[in-house]
Amino acid sequence: MGRSRFGMLLLALALGWSASARAEPVRVVATFSILGDLVRQVGGVRVAVTALVGPNGDAHSFVPAPADAQSVAAARLVVVNGLGFEGWIDRLIKASGTKAKVVVAARGVVPIEEEDGGDHGHAHAIDPHAWQNVANAKSYVAAIRDGLAGVDPAGKAAYDANAAAYLAKLDALDAEVRAALAGIPEARRRIVTTHDAFGYFAKAYGLRFLAPQGVSSQSEATARDVAAIVRQVRRDKIPAVFLENVSDPRLMQQIAREGGAKAGGRVFSDALSEPGGPAPTYLEMMRHNAREFAAALAG
Ligand SMILES: [Zn+2]
Repeated sequence: MGRSRFGMLLLALALGWSASARAEPVRVVATFSILGDLVRQVGGVRVAVTALVGPNGDAHSFVPAPADAQSVAAARLVVVNGLGFEGWIDRLIKASGTKAKVVVAARGVVPIEEEDGGDHGHAHAIDPHAWQNVANAKSYVAAIRDGLAGVDPAGKAAYDANAAAYLAKLDALDAEVRAALAGIPEARRRIVTTHDAFGYFAKAYGLRFLAPQGVSSQSEATARDVAAIVRQVRRDKIPAVFLENVSDPRLMQQIAREGGAKAGGRVFSDALSEPGGPAPTYLEMMRHNAREFAAALAG
């Protein structure tokens, strides 16, 4: 009697515990907003995602706050871009004392080196902005899916299904970006952005990008860099320069004015927009950028 009641109690507790374990989302930290969106797409209702660098934030110059260390400490999975994008992440992980598994989203990407633009020479650096090629985003999604299943094996089927559905959307997105850019004449496939964040986009979709700041928004563009870009914009009749959501617009406005180029719209390189803005998800960001480039370059 007593035993069976005790047994029932244990059973009830066990059921209650497993039910509450199911209801408790897997805490995941992603280093920046674009990665945060990809984790949400794959994790769905099973995960609670915190992006350390939020909408319109600049991950290059980010300085973590104590609250960020707490988020990392509480996480079961930390998803980072890699390729040197988050210079602050190793120290943050160490300082937080977290036991979280770390997934490097760009681990399957073939990195490209920054291209030297014209006569201003930068030291060769790995370009971290791999997500700007949709094919690379697909590889990010696979890494995230496997990382989530690793820390939450009970969710594997859900993560597999979510990832498969999202990968199909990425295939459609890739075709859409190509179609949007297809009409740009060969001679007009050149643009200037503030920092060199579109190297993967350019390589994948057949445009040529120049940027005065190099692959990190933190490196200062010197007067010499800017003068060289202005000369090149004039000489090559580069049709448009673009503003980025993470960079000061004044530099680009100056280059457009002095180089005689059109100031194109605002494009999203390293961060999403706020939820109500034009680029609140990765899919919408890539569509928005392709539309902006196409509109300014079509002729
Ligand atoms: Zn960047």
